[in-house]
Amino acid sequence: MTDDPLHTALLDARVPRYTSYPPANRFSADVGPADMAEWLAAVPQGDPISVYVHVPFCRRLCWFCACRTQGTTTDTPLDRYLDHLDRETAMVAAALPRGTTMRTLHLGGGTPTILSPQRIARLSEILHGAFSPTAEADISVEIDPMECDEARLDALRALGMTRVSLGVQDFDPAVQAAIGRTQPVDATARVVEAARARGTRSLNVDLVYGLPHQTPERLAATLKEVLALAPDRLALFGYAHVPWMARRQRMIPEAALPRPVERLELANLAREMLTGSGYRAIGIDHFARPGDAMARAADDGTLRRNFQGYTTDGAATLVGLGPSSISRFTQGFAQNAPATGAWQAAIDAGRLATARGHALSDRDRLVAEVIERLMCHGRVDLGALTGRHRAPVAPLLAIARAALEELPGAGRLAGEVLHITCPAALRLVAARFDPGFAPATNLYSQAS
Ligand code: SF4
Repeated sequence: MTDDPLHTALLDARVPRYTSYPPANRFSADVGPADMAEWLAAVPQGDPISVYVHVPFCRRLCWFCACRTQGTTTDTPLDRYLDHLDRETAMVAAALPRGTTMRTLHLGGGTPTILSPQRIARLSEILHGAFSPTAEADISVEIDPMECDEARLDALRALGMTRVSLGVQDFDPAVQAAIGRTQPVDATARVVEAARARGTRSLNVDLVYGLPHQTPERLAATLKEVLALAPDRLALFGYAHVPWMARRQRMIPEAALPRPVERLELANLAREMLTGSGYRAIGIDHFARPGDAMARAADDGTLRRNFQGYTTDGAATLVGLGPSSISRFTQGFAQNAPATGAWQAAIDAGRLATARGHALSDRDRLVAEVIERLMCHGRVDLGALTGRHRAPVAPLLAIARAALEELPGAGRLAGEVLHITCPAALRLVAARFDPGFAPATNLYSQAS
């Protein structure tokens, strides 16, 4: 046991991950297709956009995963999905100013590589037919190494893939058995090699700590194997056990989950091993090689946070396609119907599939910027920021002082600049600035 208030808060707290402000669970049905159409039409002429495509299918449903996806053993739903994606993309492109270009494209899910090479080629036609990529476009794809082959990688290369994100989570067989996800090291290494041979310029690996049966020794062994793959970036997420929200997590043996104090040890061990191997720690859960674009963005203050976590993408507009995807505009957020059937029904009715969202107020924009600066850089100049937003600084300074008093060791206030030096405290401090955060709700994952 410890009586260090920061340590206790880290063990107990359930706080949002703030991939957006407000978090998506606070979106409402006040935002619908008409808002989405209006916001698309208002994108400034000549501004490149970012595009996210959600592929909501997996061959296997890993028990730890809370992503919006559905299992399918056949290919039958995939063509129907692409038909609807084609029509949705055409509607979105028609609503945007003519000639809008695409600066980044991210294919996520689910498992984008569940699509056959022919279907990937069709997806490429749909997207490139609607949005011309800019010369330096960044095109990233989430890959399940167990659902990928050379022909798919060739098709993705033809689509323009520049970056790959591989799910690993943990290589230990006992951990993999407990999360329903078998993935040998050599199969993963083959995909890494094949992706690199096709000119992929950046490779990310996703890892998870806090999984059942994970111990410091097992996690250290996984990290050694992952480091041998020499990824450019790593994401290290804390497992969020929320079986009341993600039903498949009921398969996870709860008794085998590390206790809060053990989770913190696992997180610290991983952080030490990765930074000790030359990776730069970014925000709450990312690591990048010093020369990587993400590390450079952290250095020059341009790092952003979006629904994939941290990003170097500076586009003001993110257009989401596919069920559950979220679009971000300067005016607010618009989320598609989460269920594939409801998304298809909207498109069949000839309308955009927006089901919920949030229109940003001036106050939301101020809070969003404070939280994004903290989550990305651990530092926010409250004086400069409130000056730009024409808002009083005193209430934010009061929040900062109260947070530092309650969480000694989290950081310091130098004049009007708040510095958070303990990365594990970033979410806790960010939540203090969030007027809608209700600590008693059990919707969020643990801060550590
Ligand atoms: S971890 Fe990946 S493959 Fe497994 S269920 Fe989640 S999205 Fe599907």
